[in-house]
Amino acid sequence: MSDFRFTRRQFLEVTGATTLALSLDSLGFLGGMAHATEKIFQKWEYKNWESLHRDEWKWDRITYGTHLVDCYPGNCLWRVYAKDGVVWREEQAGKYPIVDPSSTDWNPRGCQKGCSFSNMMYNPDRVKYPMKRVGERGEGKWKRITWDEAADEVCNHLIDAIQTAGPESIIFEPGPGNGGWIHLMSSMNFLGSLGATELDINATIGDFNKGVYETFGKFQFCDSVDGWFFGKLLLIWHMNPVYTRIPCYHFIADARYNGAEVVTIAPDYSPSAIHADEWIPIEMGADAALGLAAGQVLISEGTYDKAFLKEQTDFPLLIRSDNHKFLRETDVEKTGREDQFYFWDSAANSPVKAPRETLSLPCDPALEGKYKATLKDGSQVEVRPGFDIFKEMLDRDYTPEKASQMCGANPETIRRLARKAWKARGHVQILVGWNSSKYYHGDLMERAMCLLLALTGSVGNK
Ligand code: SF4
Repeated sequence: MSDFRFTRRQFLEVTGATTLALSLDSLGFLGGMAHATEKIFQKWEYKNWESLHRDEWKWDRITYGTHLVDCYPGNCLWRVYAKDGVVWREEQAGKYPIVDPSSTDWNPRGCQKGCSFSNMMYNPDRVKYPMKRVGERGEGKWKRITWDEAADEVCNHLIDAIQTAGPESIIFEPGPGNGGWIHLMSSMNFLGSLGATELDINATIGDFNKGVYETFGKFQFCDSVDGWFFGKLLLIWHMNPVYTRIPCYHFIADARYNGAEVVTIAPDYSPSAIHADEWIPIEMGADAALGLAAGQVLISEGTYDKAFLKEQTDFPLLIRSDNHKFLRETDVEKTGREDQFYFWDSAANSPVKAPRETLSLPCDPALEGKYKATLKDGSQVEVRPGFDIFKEMLDRDYTPEKASQMCGANPETIRRLARKAWKARGHVQILVGWNSSKYYHGDLMERAMCLLLALTGSVGNK
């Protein structure tokens, strides 16, 4: 961004206006306008800064454009104003249709990186053609080569690798795919066809929410980002959307205006903490303790959504006390399914098969208690609903006082968080980005978050 000295000198020669150049420099105009625009700059003559300011508003073409600068969801819509074929300024376009009139508007979308994107496009450091290193690594010496020469170089190396060590010796690290899907898919297709070793995108960059995957069978489950507007309690937890979801952040602010409360749980007083109603500082990596303790408060105070737990979770499934495994049909019948589990029907005082492929409950399953089930050899074994075991573990290990020693949050803060979650039941939203997924045992953090959503019945609602 700073390598524009040559162009600026030329520019000064043309205009003879040092003060103008300083003004432009301080406005940041010159930084991005380099080689590609040299000729145009020579042609454009500005007498002084006022002249430049007035001419900034003259263009000969308006188009639309977007970018994907390592941003998600990205692809914001921009108006692009060009003069003599050079992008002169950019402006957010307010052209998104109203998708859901009960939410707030998407318009306009954009961020500061986007509104200065032409600086990047015209930056002299941008790689526009193949370059071959001719100096030592790190020396910065490069020579421009043709596309044919580049293709030959790459192919020769690929053939050498295949002949000497086999195609699997070629390692393809695709990165996060931010060059766009066409680039990603074409290189994946090519190298996959060769038999190269492809590294898993999510394994290399850690954008895989393991705990969410373990719980739901999908590594992401959510609605679109305007759904934030409908939350009553937004827990920003392992995320910093003020920084990283700039075009979408307003849905959080809109939700607050709509009466939602925003709590940021983070070790640092992050930009997202500044804009929250409450900031809960926490020891790094201790989030599971906080989540489990909040769950302990909800359960011990009897404030949890029993109907949701019975219908939507595996909490009512019976677990054998002798081997800590689910009670299965293969345990109780000579021929049976491994994946047929059981509830305890308190009314009939007997186990009953849990439904498969339907959510209709065959009975009102017990969530608590110890029962006796008869196995196929006639012996009896103690069984308990998973919830009963889980509750015992929380009461033993994750009271707010005990969790406080692990996560650093005050016990009363943990209780307050739980009570807020119950007050907002049905509409608690957890904004988890791709940070917990980069932790060893990040899955346990995410599962604790899933627990809070389940206890408050906050899945499946707007
Ligand atoms: S978030 Fe910023 S960089 Fe990304 S597409 Fe939108 S304006 Fe461009």
